[in-house]
Amino acid sequence: MIGSILYRDGQLRPAVAYSVIGVVVLVAAYMVYAAWAGSGASRPVAMMCMTPDCGYQRSERLQVGETFPAACPRCGKNSLVPAFTCPECGTVNVWNEDRGLKPPTRCTKCGREVYHGR
Ligand SMILES: [Zn+2]
Ligand SMILES: [Zn+2]
Repeated sequence: MIGSILYRDGQLRPAVAYSVIGVVVLVAAYMVYAAWAGSGASRPVAMMCMTPDCGYQRSERLQVGETFPAACPRCGKNSLVPAFTCPECGTVNVWNEDRGLKPPTRCTKCGREVYHGR
């Protein structure tokens, strides 16, 4: 009885199994991609607000005629400065130069030293 069921479904089962595996692989690949894209490593952040607890970021670079620190649309303070994402961990950091400190800038998360223009 069991053998006859296996035999009868033998034509169909592998195709179903392979398509399920294919979907699982696609979903897994998408999740890996989403996690990677969501980490911020691929998202260019050009400007960020230096005001603590504001956290405003924008992906557009400085506009023509705009000086920095520029006015932050979230907190209203003149604390929007050019920023970069750490090549190591994707954390958004403000350049030391823009904070009146000496380079290199250290990533606030992983401590990697990053130089302007590299
Ligand atoms: Zn702000
Ligand atoms: Zn880092």
